[in-house]
Amino acid sequence: MIVHETLTNMAAANSIMPLAGKKILIDAGHQGKGNLEKEPIAPGSTVMKTKVTYGTTGVATGIPEYVFTLEMGLKLKESFAAMGAEVFMIREDHDVNISNKERALIGNDLNVDLVIKIHADGAADEKIRGISILYPSQHNKHTEKIAGKSRLAATYILDGLIANTQAENRGIKARADITGFNWSVVPVVLIECGYMSNPQEDDLLSDPTYQARLVKGILKGTIEYFTNQ
Ligand SMILES: [Zn+2]
Repeated sequence: MIVHETLTNMAAANSIMPLAGKKILIDAGHQGKGNLEKEPIAPGSTVMKTKVTYGTTGVATGIPEYVFTLEMGLKLKESFAAMGAEVFMIREDHDVNISNKERALIGNDLNVDLVIKIHADGAADEKIRGISILYPSQHNKHTEKIAGKSRLAATYILDGLIANTQAENRGIKARADITGFNWSVVPVVLIECGYMSNPQEDDLLSDPTYQARLVKGILKGTIEYFTNQ
């Protein structure tokens, strides 16, 4: 009867562990101190870009983006692990110095199934608000192989986010100028969770209830991506 029990347990585990066998890398954007040195934007490129920018700061809360991204990252880690995923973190501390290129290489070395980069947005116009997801462009020799899967993940995750937050939907956007995409050989998305330059959205981004909705939306979208890819 051991065989029967094992099969039953496996079936049960699969239904409650929809991310079993998946490796997910969470990159909490930015870090305590930016690193304004430059690095190539892509393998073999002479175009140079800042290693890690400082990120934005909440206009209402004064909270730096790197604090928000790590709060979200740690909550995502817990939620993904609870669904059976093997979760890796670029950082669990603010006091690190890991460039965007290095972050991509970590994902490559781990051969993860998906990299989720967490960010918040900022704009000069404080009325701008909403969620968007960036993914690597199809029309870029460095990312053409990962563009399709990344775009699919971005689509499902944005749907999950909008359904769970009712935030303004700013769409998915293909980008060829993101160092963290161009060095990646595994699917990757960058979630702009909201505008810290919009006072109301900035307040929401630091609200644990709203953060839980963001996490739930990302989790739901990720599960649907892996189910439908
Ligand atoms: Zn950012």
